[in-house]
Amino acid sequence: MEFQAPRGTTDVLPDDQRYWRYVENTASQVAESFGYRRIDTPVFEDTNLYIRSIGDSTDIVEKETYTFSDRGGDSLTLRPEGTASVCRAYIQHGMHNMPQPVRLFYLCPNFRYERPQAGRFRAFHQFGIEAFGESDPYIDAEVIEVSWRFLTSVGIDDISLRINSIGDSNCRPKYVDALQTYYQNYSQSLCPDCVRRLETNPLRLLDCKIESCQPVIQSAPKSTEYLCLPCNAHWVQLQEYLETTGIGYEIDNTLVRGLDYYSRTVYEITPPTERRTNVIAGGGRYDGLLEQLGGPATPGIGFGMGIERVIENIKRLEIDIASNPKLSIMFAHIGEGAKKEAISLSSQIRRLGKESFVGPSRGLRSQMRYASHMNSSHVIIIGDDELSTGLYTLRDLSKGDQTEITADGILNFVKTHDIGQKVD
Ligand SMILES: [Zn+2]
Ligand SMILES: [Zn+2]
Repeated sequence: MEFQAPRGTTDVLPDDQRYWRYVENTASQVAESFGYRRIDTPVFEDTNLYIRSIGDSTDIVEKETYTFSDRGGDSLTLRPEGTASVCRAYIQHGMHNMPQPVRLFYLCPNFRYERPQAGRFRAFHQFGIEAFGESDPYIDAEVIEVSWRFLTSVGIDDISLRINSIGDSNCRPKYVDALQTYYQNYSQSLCPDCVRRLETNPLRLLDCKIESCQPVIQSAPKSTEYLCLPCNAHWVQLQEYLETTGIGYEIDNTLVRGLDYYSRTVYEITPPTERRTNVIAGGGRYDGLLEQLGGPATPGIGFGMGIERVIENIKRLEIDIASNPKLSIMFAHIGEGAKKEAISLSSQIRRLGKESFVGPSRGLRSQMRYASHMNSSHVIIIGDDELSTGLYTLRDLSKGDQTEITADGILNFVKTHDIGQKVD
């Protein structure tokens, strides 16, 4: 075959669409129930936005972005993650002048040039939220709760939450020093990536997935033992607030998240057996980021989760998301006059907001097969006899029975039928 979808991308075929609608609808409902409002930002941004936010020493900016010059010579980058764009929009539209906190959510495609492997896509989709302008840890607990409620609402309830605090610009340098000093003793046994991280991005040493680095990680100094007083108070309160939500958690001092801009709270949610390698949701606080992007000093916190991974887990758990049966009427027609009547009635039904279409111009059996392939709930059969009597045949495909009905009767049936509401 000449053309295929590019490596690391997928087509969402019609049969899979119900998963996507289910996840997107639930995400919107849950986020809105917490007072979050939707924002959409462009698919590409000024490349410098990502260099300034994510940091040029991260894997993402070093080797995973889709960066290109446009015809005007500007360097643009396809969005690799959601937070930076939303921060840029917050600053650009003066949202710091609105009552704080500003609560936003988004559903958007992201792009990263990842090594193709199971569960990793180069074009993937994200559900995320950001809360700006509130440093009190109740909002940290709230953001965690939104992600937790969303996952349990779609039926993924075998998850666990790990949290950590990585301090702020006041106390983290001391911790990073301690970490570097500790790691220097092991420089001989580290993987090549960790040798590099030791210089460029020491916190990410704790994020290494290579087996031989794990013992070093396990006995490394803990960030929570280096917190300054305000960071420690924030950390303690976060745990108190989380406890009031009833969400169980585990403290994991090796949790640092991949991006440079995090401060204080970081967290991840994972399925039971796949720790770290298959995180469903993760997020954290980024109090310095808005200032770093040229905005006013504004605290922020958020999470992002990959929709593909959420759907993978819905399938893993075989969660039944069968949508309500919807009214979908196909008109089978035999003869030119019948076809015109089918086109007319079908059009009237659609104007009532219901699904209806005309069968293919083939024999009756072939049209009936098409109706069942399309999951039609009903077929209305019109031939010459039916046209002359004005009584059409209405066949209920789920029950297998049939009755006679007039054109007015059909429209009335559509208006009053209780499964007539479309699911989305
Ligand atoms: Zn390593
Ligand atoms: Zn601190």
